[in-house]
Amino acid sequence: MSKTDWIIVGGGSAGCVVASRLANQTDSRRGKVTIIEPPTSSARQVDRERPANWLNLLGSGEDWNLATSENPQLANRILRWPRGRGLGGSSRINAMIWFPPTRKDLQMLVEASSGAWSISELQNDLSNLTELIRPEKPAWQSEAAKRFLFAAKQLDAGAAWAYKRLNRSGRRWNPAELLSTAQVAGSIQVQRTTVNRLIFKGDRIIGVETCDDHGKNEILANKGVIICAGAIATPAILMRSGIGPRDQLEKIGIEVRLESEQVGQGLQDHLIAPVIFQVRSGRFSSHASVQDIARWQTMGTGPLASNLAECGGLFLQESIQIHVTPTHYLSYPKLTDCAFMTLGVNATQPQSTGMLQLQSSSPRVPLSIHPHYLQDPSDCDVTIHGMRLARRLVAETDLSQWIVTETLPGEKRDTDQALERAISRYSQTLYHPVGTARLGAMSSSVITPDFRLRGFRQAWVVDASILPRLPHGNPNATIMLLAFKAANKLRDLVG
Ligand SMILES: Cc1cc2nc3c(=O)[nH]c(=O)nc-3n(C[C@H](O)[C@H](O)[C@H](O)COP(=O)(O)OP(=O)(O)OC[C@H]3O[C@@H](n4cnc5c(N)ncnc54)[C@H](O)[C@@H]3O)c2cc1C
Repeated sequence: MSKTDWIIVGGGSAGCVVASRLANQTDSRRGKVTIIEPPTSSARQVDRERPANWLNLLGSGEDWNLATSENPQLANRILRWPRGRGLGGSSRINAMIWFPPTRKDLQMLVEASSGAWSISELQNDLSNLTELIRPEKPAWQSEAAKRFLFAAKQLDAGAAWAYKRLNRSGRRWNPAELLSTAQVAGSIQVQRTTVNRLIFKGDRIIGVETCDDHGKNEILANKGVIICAGAIATPAILMRSGIGPRDQLEKIGIEVRLESEQVGQGLQDHLIAPVIFQVRSGRFSSHASVQDIARWQTMGTGPLASNLAECGGLFLQESIQIHVTPTHYLSYPKLTDCAFMTLGVNATQPQSTGMLQLQSSSPRVPLSIHPHYLQDPSDCDVTIHGMRLARRLVAETDLSQWIVTETLPGEKRDTDQALERAISRYSQTLYHPVGTARLGAMSSSVITPDFRLRGFRQAWVVDASILPRLPHGNPNATIMLLAFKAANKLRDLVG
């Protein structure tokens, strides 16, 4: 058994922001911060550094390698659900896009807090967070990205821009780097083990039970436990601790400590459907030439600095986002001699909600993931509308001169039924699960607007699980904004 002041469970996007803010506090009463993050086997260094190699990180030792159950609306396909493992969490393996929450997203957070937060307060936090993260402008753009951005202006249908990235001089960067600054480094300890469940004393959470190849252990916290294990692991830890839906817990022999129906429910994800075009020029390859390597090494630019999903458009009116890649992209870019562009379309505000189910009280048994994609028919309708919008972007702008043909779904597949079939066969996760331990002011919500685990003292939760719903774009910036906010609250508590 060991003791610390603060335990942070999971050193991912949210965990690193919280840890760095807590540890950075000069107040001597702050105390010792311990991050608990499971051990990893590192991916190849070139894959960790080169933005264009990010897909090689999926399936590596830095990925939890999760998978969904069969998806009835997706031709019963099982989707791989990568989740980052190791300090930096999913930011360690993600596509690096920095997508600040839109005004509507901030409004959603204000509503969830029942007015405890205001838009201007969140905007202020966001600008302070952005100074800390310093997302970078893209160092290089493919021909597909340039042409798409020009076309989006011509059609004037929504906003489109080149995404900023979590990069430093064209190299991958993740929030674990926040922990290594001189001020912070001495105040944080990292324990490489896995949290099984929480330890209680009455309604106080006083520590965590960990488990690894050496067996079980206990780590106690004088001041509190902050759970940041992400949208899948956080509800799993809560359920293994007896906090969750009674039926589910009793079925696998877990004693119920607090019946909380929403734990593991309310799961949302963005589902992306591809529209793929063969184009006349600009073949992209992440297989580097000597010149590309030299260019990237010396100047941090060139095709190796591309994150593939270089730019996109947000069509807020229609609740549609389009991601542009300079490749033939289903779940991986296809190796081919021809040039391609893929417009990946997703409904930004899906109505379908899924759930997670704990299979066993053992942390070694993965829980089952039921995303319930497209269960609400309106999600498919919006995606079909988005695919037609992608086609209009091509047909009604200068892009039309550049396109050879639409390879997938293919021009002839134009009826709703044909597009629905294509969505069901080819769409993929955009890797954005959220909402499985929602924050809200209602007594049924799992987390209170001041990030407390409802029903307990000395425990807080902040990560993707607490988002009441998906933000319109890629969620990492919104999650880190919540982490920044939670850390400020905790600093106030200590100060
Ligand atoms: C492949 C991929 C591409 C993506 N691309 C983008 C993008 O370009 N832009 C964007 O905005 N979003 C993107 N996302 C989503 C974004 O990265 C995540 O939403 C975000 O990182 C989630 O942050 P988090 O803090 O909730 O969880 P995570 O960052 O996943 O952190 C959770 C941490 O908890 C640890 N953990 C898990 N279980 C335990 C346990 N039992 N005990 C202790 N620790 C544990 C994990 O190892 C991990 O380090 C992508 C995600 C993936 C996987």
